[in-house]
Amino acid sequence: MIEIKTARASGRLILVLGDQLSLTLSALQGANKAQDVVLMAEVAEEASYVPHHKKKLAFLFSAMRHHADLLRREGWTVRYIHLDDDSNKGTLPDQLRHELAVSDRSQVVMTEPGEYRLRRALLDWAEAAGVALDMREDTRFVCTHAEFQSWAQGRKQLRMEYFYREMRRKTGLLINGDAPEGGKWNYDAENRKPAKGDLFMPQPRHVPRDAITEDVLALVETRFAKNFGSLEPFWLAVTREDALLALEHFVQTALPLFGDYQDAMLTDEPFLYHSVLAQYLNAGLLDPLEICRRVERAYYDGDAPLNAVEGYIRQIIGWREYVRGIYWLKMPDYTHANYFDAKRPLPAFYWTAQTDMACMSAAISQTRDHAYAHHIQRLMVTGNFAMLAGIDPHELHEWYLAVYADAYEWVEAPNVISMSQFADGGLLASKPYAASGNYINKMSDHCQTCRYDVKQKTGPGACPFNPLYWDFLIRNADKLRGNPRLGHAYRTWDRMSEEKQHAYRSSAAAVLDGLT
Ligand SMILES: Cc1cc2nc3c(=O)[nH]c(=O)nc-3n(C[C@H](O)[C@H](O)[C@H](O)COP(=O)(O)OP(=O)(O)OC[C@H]3O[C@@H](n4cnc5c(N)ncnc54)[C@H](O)[C@@H]3O)c2cc1C
Ligand code: SF4
Repeated sequence: MIEIKTARASGRLILVLGDQLSLTLSALQGANKAQDVVLMAEVAEEASYVPHHKKKLAFLFSAMRHHADLLRREGWTVRYIHLDDDSNKGTLPDQLRHELAVSDRSQVVMTEPGEYRLRRALLDWAEAAGVALDMREDTRFVCTHAEFQSWAQGRKQLRMEYFYREMRRKTGLLINGDAPEGGKWNYDAENRKPAKGDLFMPQPRHVPRDAITEDVLALVETRFAKNFGSLEPFWLAVTREDALLALEHFVQTALPLFGDYQDAMLTDEPFLYHSVLAQYLNAGLLDPLEICRRVERAYYDGDAPLNAVEGYIRQIIGWREYVRGIYWLKMPDYTHANYFDAKRPLPAFYWTAQTDMACMSAAISQTRDHAYAHHIQRLMVTGNFAMLAGIDPHELHEWYLAVYADAYEWVEAPNVISMSQFADGGLLASKPYAASGNYINKMSDHCQTCRYDVKQKTGPGACPFNPLYWDFLIRNADKLRGNPRLGHAYRTWDRMSEEKQHAYRSSAAAVLDGLT
């Protein structure tokens, strides 16, 4: 992963990307504050390779500007290129070419980009331009590329659970002697409760805006007026200091019930007991191990139960590290995987939230308002619907990449392509996460106010997830019938009368015909 070419000795240009907002960044290690210059740039290409949510853009630009100030306070010389600066060249390679030309520097140091696209572009540029580019491994992860490759090598199935145990052993998190704390590695069985409305439901910490954020909000409103999403309300943390306070707030107010209600959904409660920290973590404002150690401490201090703490730590050192490993193992063709050959365009309501399906409307509305939806909404509502309806997974991938404040391809693509769409044929999951309305009804209160009837299986008033579920299984029977975990579902279908089967298929056709 590390590529070093020799260069003439002079101060170096240290490129810091928008999701590398950490003082501990590998690119800064061993640098000379007196000679080296840190370059940060808000370039149009990065801001528009997908139509990012306005709030995501504002969060990142503001966090970048605050980070540049922090670096200066730490004694670094920072060259910061604003989106509207005359010297802004629009792409990172062009900006680097320009900066090297106007300075006497010939060597660039950086931490590897998280996305394949940018990594390839910068390596190709450096090679073509004959520039010495020292691209270093990103040390802000628990698992290195080499460790993941060696774990994956020779395994038929890459199950997260086994990877997660390795990460527990490596970090010592919730390990007692040689054994997992409490005797079990995983307490998920305790974590599937539906939630009830609660006047005292915790809310993420709201941070007052400062002048930098106000400037950025105005900039985004003008330059990205047509992008999806609301800028208001804007209360995200944009500094490490505030991100740490957000972590503390989560631990004190929501962590104890995080496990119990992890899979629950409630109307008008977009965040429930989730941490809403992924955007800070993925941008570098927080470190995964510091989060996990703080959460672990809450357990040992008696402030949070084991099912919540283990469940939370598993999301970070398990799922997050694991999907990153999968991404780098499978790129570059990965984001075009399409196991079911699904070709339907993304329905317009993914951008407008205008649908009578109460669950979809809730998930998309809060995505529009907050650039946030929690895991089960992404997986079992918007993701499930797309897979059942046969939406093109690449188009869906671009939607997810655009609309969430925490979305970067390395973490988004495995979640969308593999986990939610099964578009790789089953690398991450032993069966597709396909579900009828019954699952959503069990885990949420959405069906109570929906125009559709979740109990009705077919016909115009039926919950669309019901006929779509069967239609999906039958449409893809050649690929799924042999899956032992779906044996029961296919046997149920086979026992149905022809009339009932026909009613399901024609109801599904009516739903699909109505998608625009
Ligand atoms: C279709 C789909 C798309 C997703 N896209 C993204 C994405 O673009 N960026 C992103 O960070 N996460 C993504 N996730 C994972 C997860 O939904 C988000 O990390 C989570 O909702 C962020 O909210 P939170 O911080 O409140 O998380 P919490 O529920 O509080 O979880 C704690 C932390 O665990 C990590 N985490 C949890 N689940 C996962 C997971 N499956 N993969 C990786 N990390 C995880 C996150 O860092 C998160 O902050 C996606 C999941 C699905 C099903
Ligand atoms: S009835 Fe169906 S569409 Fe309506 S909220 Fe329930 S699951 Fe969603």
